[in-house]
Formats: sequence, C-alpha cells, structure tokens
Amino acid sequence: MNVPAGLSTEMCDMVIQTLKQVTSRELPDDFILQLDEKDEFPMEVIQKMLSPDVGLHLIFLPENAGGLGGGARDICRVSEEMAKVDLGVATAFLAICLGTDPILVGGTDEQKSKWLSRIAGEGLIVAYGVTEPAAGSNVASIQTTADQILDADGNVTGYRINGTKQFITNGGVAQLYTILAKTPSGPSFFVVERDTPGLSVGKHEEKHGIRASNTTGVILEDVEVPLENLIGGQEGVGLKQANAVFGYTRLMVGAFGLGGGQGALERALDYALTREQFGGPIYDKQGYRLKLLVESWIDLEAGRAYAEQTALTIDEGNPDLATEGSIAKYWCTEAGLKAANNAIQALGGYGYTREYLVEKMYRDVRITTIYEGTSEIQQSIIGMFRWKETARSKGAFYEGVAADLDKVHAENGNVGACSPWPT
Ligand SMILES: Cc1cc2nc3c(=O)[nH]c(=O)nc-3n(C[C@H](O)[C@H](O)[C@H](O)COP(=O)(O)OP(=O)(O)OC[C@H]3O[C@@H](n4cnc5c(N)ncnc54)[C@H](O)[C@@H]3O)c2cc1C
Repeated sequence: MNVPAGLSTEMCDMVIQTLKQVTSRELPDDFILQLDEKDEFPMEVIQKMLSPDVGLHLIFLPENAGGLGGGARDICRVSEEMAKVDLGVATAFLAICLGTDPILVGGTDEQKSKWLSRIAGEGLIVAYGVTEPAAGSNVASIQTTADQILDADGNVTGYRINGTKQFITNGGVAQLYTILAKTPSGPSFFVVERDTPGLSVGKHEEKHGIRASNTTGVILEDVEVPLENLIGGQEGVGLKQANAVFGYTRLMVGAFGLGGGQGALERALDYALTREQFGGPIYDKQGYRLKLLVESWIDLEAGRAYAEQTALTIDEGNPDLATEGSIAKYWCTEAGLKAANNAIQALGGYGYTREYLVEKMYRDVRITTIYEGTSEIQQSIIGMFRWKETARSKGAFYEGVAADLDKVHAENGNVGACSPWPT
C-alpha cells in the first residue's frame, strides 16, 4: 500500500482551525443573511481567504507550485467545514479548485509551473467554463469552437475561441478561466485571462440559494489565445481531463452536502434542547428526536464514512474511482438535502422564517444535487459502470467484495460478515 498523499492530521487540523477562526470573524450570521438577501458576492472576504495570511486555496495546490499539497481527505474536510458556514462562499472555492484542475491533471510542466504558481502566489480567482446553454449534463455536446490560427508556414500559433458559457461560478469575478472548446481534433481546455479582448461577462443569475456565490454567463467573441494556453499542448483530450477529476471533485460536492446538512441539523439540535413544549424540551419527545434528528444524523455519518474511505483510496494512488465518487456525491448530497429539510421542520414556524438560517441552508444545499453532475446522472454512471465492470470481470467484482467480507469474518467471527448467506 502506498503512503497516502496529503497533509498530516495535525496539519489538516491546523488548517481547519484557521478556517474556523476566519469564518467566525468574517462571516457572522447577520452578514451571511445580508449577503443572501442582497445576492452579493463577498469579494473582500474571499480576497482575505486567498491572501498570504490565510491562503486557504493552497490546500489543493501541489507543494512544488507553492501550495500545501493537500490530499482528497484534506479537501473533503475543509469543504465540509466551509459548507457548514456558507455554501455560497464554499462554492466560490470549489470553482477555483475546479478551474485549476484541468491544469493540474492535464497541464504540461511549463503550464503547471506558470499557472499553478500564479494561482498560489497571487491568489487568483479562477472559473471553470464547461456548461453551455445547450450543453449541461451532456458535456460532449458543447458548441464553443476553438479555430486554429496558422502562421505563413501553416504552423498552429494559437486559437480563436467563439461561444457562450452558462452558469459559470465566479464568471463575473474571475481573473482566470479554463474554457472547454471544440478544436478540429475535439474538445480541449484553454487557459483564458480575464482581460483577453473578446471575453465578456454575460447574464448574472438570480438564484434560489448559494446567493453569495457569483454565477454568470461568459461570452467569448473571437478570443485569441496563444498555443501555449492549450492545456496539455494537445488537442482533443479535454473530456478525458474533465473525467479525470470527477472522482475527486464529486467527493468535494459530496462534502458540501454533508456540511450543508450537518450545519442545519446542528442548529436544529441546539433549538430542540432549549425549545419547550408540553412541559419540557422538544428534544425529549422520542418521535421528534428519531424522525427529525437521528435519522438524518445517521445518513450523514454513513455518507461521511463512505466519502472518507473513497478519499483515502484516492490518496493511496488509485486514480480510477469515478463510480465511487458518484456514489459519494449522490448519497451525501441527497442526505444533506433531507437533513436541511428536517431541520426546517424541527424548528417549526421559526424554521420557515429567514432569521433562523435553516431555510437559507436548505436553499443552499439544494444546488449540491444539481451541479457537478445531477443526482440522476450519478445514478446512471453508477449503474452503467458497475454493470460494465461486472460484465468485464465475469462477476469477479462482486466475488471480490464477498471475498473481502469472508476475510473480515475469518479474522473476527463476531462481526456478522459471512458467506454463503446463512439459511
Ligand atoms: C449555481 C450553479 C453553478 C454552476 N457552476 C458551474 C461552473 O462553475 N462551471 C460549469 O461548467 N458549470 C456550472 N454549472 C452547471 C451545472 O453543472 C449544470 O447545471 C448541471 O450539470 C446540469 O446541467 P443542465 O442544467 O443543463 O441540466 P440538464 O442536463 O438539461 O438536465 C435537466 C434534467 O434532466 C435530467 N437528465 C439529463 N440527462 C439525463 C439522463 N441521461 N438520465 C436521466 N436524467 C437526465 C437531469 O438530471 C435534470 O434533472 C452550475 C450550475 C448552477 C445552477
């Protein structure tokens, strides 16, 4: 087994501690409510988080680019913690991470050295531009084009990009974009700087939740970029690069589901312990406690355990975990949504008002079952890939799972894992 990548537990604890200090200072409840009401991106707070003093973005950047070299487990912990406070702010960070990923997984050494160092050192806000008005779940149907620019000898010197991107997080505030566009050899990612002529910001979306995040269209009209901005230096590998990060980024959104749900549930628990009805705290009513608190608490714990195990497997160097990433995203985000809904119910009429924040948390966590692949897309990936793997291995996949359980049972007969099924 490889030594897992990532930070030591102590180092990750320190990052979480710093995060808690910053968010309790910069994002008190009344300010969070104000951002939600005004539909406002907290630029100053984000800049502080990206400043050399805090440097929260360094967690997902490699050490040789000036980052901390955090692993999947570290990023999940930080993501959950941020989402507990405000999923809009957490989403701004997700987009920086997501926007950086094509360079991280597919960039040449020169590109990594140039762009990752700038993202780390300058604290650049990055946006990930894939979705288009007619290309959502089906990324392969993008219409944005990147035509080759040729010199007099017919050599490619750059690309001219035309198209419209939609629902882009940080779209109106980013300094750097990674844009997926069709080259003659297929979809490819490009790095595009904000001040490149022809790039403009489209419609600002008025959203149901995560209103502290900035979501806009991005319009590209004859945007010219040099050849060196083609990520990986090779055309047609954009979808492969996008898929390469899914196991990882979907875990991040799964962690958002956990954080959004857990944050709301913790508020519900505090309320239940102090609110008195029928002569005592409502927490003491068994029906209330089991239905509205315990069930969701268990769902979130189960999701956290699965996500942590998947993250550990990624950190141990297993790259092919798209199915597990999908399972984690599906379970954790659906569980988070249910938990936040239960939290509203647990606060009764107060839960339905803005003041107690749980209704905002519910609206926020709602997005997690939609972006980074909807729940239906995760279900279809899980079904398709598990089926393919089972067919390819002639059933060996599930025989392997059964063998693992036999091993557990052989080591400890009391754990209840046994095969064949008892009759
Ligand atoms: C707030 C927000 C932020 C976002 N940030 C970004 C970003 O930073 N960068 C970016 O590139 N994109 C971003 N997105 C886009 C997001 O990833 C897409 O909205 C999402 O992938 C779904 O695409 P769609 O909205 O076009 O829905 P569609 O693909 O049109 O889906 C509509 C419905 O059909 C279902 N459906 C579609 N195909 C299937 C199928 N094969 N089987 C079963 N059901 C199916 C879906 O589950 C959904 O319920 C963001 C979106 C939002 C709302």
